[in-house]
Amino acid sequence: MKCRVCRDPAVIKIERHNANFCATHLQRLCRDQTAKAIKDYEMFGPDDRILVAVSGGKDSLALWDILIELGYEADGLYIGLGIGAAGEYSDESGAYARSFAADRGLRLLEVDLVAEYGYDIPNGSKAAKRAPCSACGLSKRHLFDKAAVDGGYDAVATGHNLDDEAAVLFGNVLRWQTEYLGRQHPVLPARNGFPRKVKPLVRLGEREMAAYCIVGGIDYILDECPMSAGNKHLAYKDALNDIEVMSPGTKQAFYSRFIDHAAHRFVDEDEHGDAVLSDCISCGAPSSNEICAFCALVERATQPVAAPTRRKREKAEHS
Ligand code: SF4
Ligand code: ZN
Ligand code: ZN
Repeated sequence: MKCRVCRDPAVIKIERHNANFCATHLQRLCRDQTAKAIKDYEMFGPDDRILVAVSGGKDSLALWDILIELGYEADGLYIGLGIGAAGEYSDESGAYARSFAADRGLRLLEVDLVAEYGYDIPNGSKAAKRAPCSACGLSKRHLFDKAAVDGGYDAVATGHNLDDEAAVLFGNVLRWQTEYLGRQHPVLPARNGFPRKVKPLVRLGEREMAAYCIVGGIDYILDECPMSAGNKHLAYKDALNDIEVMSPGTKQAFYSRFIDHAAHRFVDEDEHGDAVLSDCISCGAPSSNEICAFCALVERATQPVAAPTRRKREKAEHS
């Protein structure tokens, strides 16, 4: 197996390009594809300051590395979510993010849900009666937005790759959730007090990101989040991977052609797009209600657990 560019031994075969790449040319491919996505979708310019949402996983660390290699000014933000037994999974993820930043002299901002807001995702999602990924997504979106606005960043960049975005699109199309289709574009402009959000890795697959980290000596957390079990997107990814094996390139065509030719038709269906927002009375963030969804979550997640009623106590004693 030889590299398509230099004929040296290859480290990866990328079926949808029908080509093999050595370590050097894999790195170049990943950087070129990221630069192309940034340029084609007008994500940001050379003087913009970027805040990278860093989880300690392969995608976000690879993205941070690539942006720095491309010459952008990019800081990281890690959010401690308190996931895993005694928060172990989050502690480990945070250690990878910190060590990546320290090794390269990069600036990593940190927010800790437990220390700063008094809840973690496992307990908070239960108390708020939300699925863990829903409580987690809401918390992360709010805190990334806040950090970007407070820090004067021009855009928040996340490590969503082609597999992630194609799986989300697949799920939305299967149920014709047209109100979400308008939000699938890899750039969401700044509006209503929210910062611009960009996904520069949408032209790269999960395997390429893992390989990019391995050849570049980027250590990342290998384990999946323990709360991801049952997440429908994993099943959508598997389904798309089966199709991809039969017909390489389908995933990229499915996603890219939607973005390039059809996504704009659904922008008006995004009910939150042009909503008139006021300031949350608790935190000041833009919100369609008096209290924003994040503050409502914090309130429910941190309220003291009510003592069990006598009936419940008796039932527990006799069970
Ligand atoms: Fe959060 Fe769900 Fe992702 Fe885990 S899998 S980090 S709970 S969104
Ligand atoms: Zn090569
Ligand atoms: Zn609020």
